[in-house]
This record gives sequence, structure tokens and C-alpha cells, in this order.
Amino acid sequence: MSDHTHEPVVIRGGTVAEAAWSAPADVFIAGGKVTALAEPGTSAPPGTAEIDAAGMLVLPGGVDPHCHVGFTSGDFTSLDDYRQCTTAAVFGGTTTIVDFAIPRPGQSPADAAHAQRAKAAGGLCDSALHACVVAWDDTVPEQLRSLVADGMPTVKMFTTYRGETMADEDTILKTMSTLRDLGGMVVIHCEANHIIEDTQTRCSHDGRIGAEHMAATRPELAETASVAEVLAIAESLKAPVYFVHQSTPEAVELVAAARRRGLAAWTESVAHHLVLDDGLYAGPAPERFVCCPPLRPRPVVDGLARHLATGEISTIGSDHCCYDVAQKQSRRADVRAMPNGLPGVETRLPVIFSEFVAGGALPATLPATLPVTRFVELTAANPARANGLYPRKGTLMPGADADVAVWDPAARWTITSGALHMATDYTPYEGRAVTGRPRTVLVGGRVVVHDGVLTDPEPRGRHLRARPFTPRGRCA
Ligand SMILES: [Zn+2]
Repeated sequence: MSDHTHEPVVIRGGTVAEAAWSAPADVFIAGGKVTALAEPGTSAPPGTAEIDAAGMLVLPGGVDPHCHVGFTSGDFTSLDDYRQCTTAAVFGGTTTIVDFAIPRPGQSPADAAHAQRAKAAGGLCDSALHACVVAWDDTVPEQLRSLVADGMPTVKMFTTYRGETMADEDTILKTMSTLRDLGGMVVIHCEANHIIEDTQTRCSHDGRIGAEHMAATRPELAETASVAEVLAIAESLKAPVYFVHQSTPEAVELVAAARRRGLAAWTESVAHHLVLDDGLYAGPAPERFVCCPPLRPRPVVDGLARHLATGEISTIGSDHCCYDVAQKQSRRADVRAMPNGLPGVETRLPVIFSEFVAGGALPATLPATLPVTRFVELTAANPARANGLYPRKGTLMPGADADVAVWDPAARWTITSGALHMATDYTPYEGRAVTGRPRTVLVGGRVVVHDGVLTDPEPRGRHLRARPFTPRGRCA
């Protein structure tokens, strides 16, 4: 069971890509850790297993900063557990996920975190957890102190979903202020709820509240307004803040401007907002694409994607939420009652690599393809940094956990739900031709996936204790 009993490994002949550089190098692994990056052809001690990576990219395994496992919201629970979610993750080249402990009504943040953390054993790869605060009371400061001390310094908040997870401005301010002093950080979903509720009411009166009208029910300006409000709170407090799933260029630009003024502010975008557009709501199965924020018009998607190249997007997550077609269809007539979210932990890396690094189907309006180093920064290094997991995760420098995606940059394949491993019966990318996929995936120095086959089903995933941040919001 111990990593230390595993034979040493060398990954030979590939091109290592880190966030800051890429070059041909052999990766030496022992005891579950990277021990050296060496000149190609460096001799290995007897008994070292060899993985041939000729023609391959050798990447740090992906870190998915936004992944919901078995998430209950309203009447629906997403369909996977840790084993299923992490199995899909490793098939997609992701070797660390960050899940959320969202309290049920009446449950405390600490109780929710401890209950969710207990499920993490059973995963095929490591995971960390965002806690969550919905309402303020006198017990919250002590709960936050113990959560940060317990390795959960990031705390999710929402400005929407009244009666479920929505927090008011006072609660957001107090939580942010308390976390700032503890070395924690608020991670926030921003959509101005009053604007959304009013828009939904008007849409409903007009008979336009079904899934095909999803985009109109949650306007872009609701996101912009909420981001501006939360940024003002963070700047007033000089507190770090991380915005999840930013879906418009305006929202990203607000955060970038605050960062230029010195605030430790992060922008996350998620794969579906960077690739898919609201034209899908006019198609035959609009409910399959219902997520919050919704998919946006193509010029907005392209404007958002441009910020990948400019550097103003910090991380790419999946916002994985594993509902199936029956769940999505059951309330399709009213988006207010639908399960929101798309399955995506397995497709995040292949879709983003294909669109933006391989450049499979880039519209002419987008900038040149992204360098693979920027891909690693967005999908592994920065998510690890933002979550207090770097340099244990998100890098292949010596001392890091030996979580590796040996990536075939030229593999052409077509995404079909039947060939994926997520606990659902559809993918929003059904039929999409893509270029690039992981060929061999290692977790802690063990090969868990090779050529599309699960080679090590042992559930060795650990709950990771994230490190607190310095007062300036940088990883300590
Ligand atoms: Zn989410």
C-alpha cells in the first residue's frame, strides 16, 4: 500500500512542459515523488521501470479547482461518488480535484466539511475541499479558524440561489475579513440574485422560462454587477478573493483591473464557457446545457477566450456536476427548478488542449494558439497555487508528487459519452473531434491509466490539507 514499496520509474524521451518552461527531459520518480529532471538518456539505477514518452508531452497531472462530487442542490443530487469522479478525472489526465462542502439547510460549515471530507477516501487520486459559508453567526469565526487549521483555507460563497446557498453582503464581508486574518480566501460565485429573480419572473410571464430560454434568464450584467460589488468589498478589506466560473470578458476585466491596483484577485473560467455558446439552447436538447452562469453568445465566448492569451484568466476549472439526461429533462420546462451544471471533469483537459493548444477549430477571430506552458499554468500550476497545493501539485519539479499526464499531442479522436467514464449518459461535447489526449497517467508514481485502460483500480486517493496563504493572498 505504501508508495515507498513501488519500484522507481523513469519517463523517457518526452518533452516536459511546466508553467514556466518546456524542454526535452527524462523524469525520474521514486517513493511516489519526482526525484530528478535529467538530460535525455541519463542512465537509471537497476530495477527502474521505463515508460517510453517519445513524441509525447510530459505534463504535471491536471488540477481541477472546481469539481462537485455527489452534490445535492434543491431536489437533485449529482450522480457520482469519489471513486467514479476520480476515475473519470484520471482518464482525462487530471490527478487532483478540489470539491466543495456545501452545507445543507441548517448544517454548519464545519459539519458539512467534515462529512464531505470523510468521502474522499475511495478516490483514485488526491483531492482537496473548499468549505462554504452561507449565513453568519457567532460560531462562524471559530469554525473558519478550525477549517483553515485543518487544511481547508478556501471558502465558497454565492451571491445567488436564495434560500439555498445565497449569502448577503454582510456575511460575505465578515467571512472575507475573518479569512484574510487567518490566511484563507473566499472563492465566490457572483450573479446578482435580485436581477436574476426579476428577469426570471418577467421571462416566466412571457412564457419563456424553459431550458431553451436559459441564456435570457441569467443576463451578463447580473454577473458584472455582482463581481463589482464583491471586488469593492475585497478591496476595502484588502482581502484575497477568487472568482469562480467567470463567463464574460467584462467580469474578467474588472478583476484584472483590481489586480493591477494590487489586490490578490483570481479569475477562474470553466471549459464550457470558453468553448460552447448559447446557440446550443436553440438545439434539440437545450436542457443538457443548462448551467449557471449560462452559456453566452459566441462573441462573448471568443472575448472570454482571448483572455487566456492575455494572461488575465488565472485558472481553468470544469465546474463538473454529474447529472444525467433524465435529471436534466425532468424539469426542463422551468429553469428555476432544473439541476444546474454540466459533466466535465474528464473532458476539461482534452477539450481545452484541442481548442487552444492544438488549435483544432479556432475561429479566425481568436489569437494564435496557446503555448503548452500556458496550458499547464491554467490547468495545473495556477489551480494548485490558488488552492495552497503548490509545489506538491501542479509541477514536476523534484519533490513534487509524481502525478503525471504523458500526453499525446497528435492523437485525433472523437468525444462520445459511451467512451467516457463519468457517471452520466451524456457529454456536452458529444461528437466533437479533438486533438490530443493523455496516453499514460501516473498518480503518486503508479501508472493508473495506459492507452485507455485502467491499470490500477486501488483507491489510494488522499484528502489533501491545503496550506494557508500569506496576508497578500500568495501561497505561503
Ligand atoms: Zn460550481
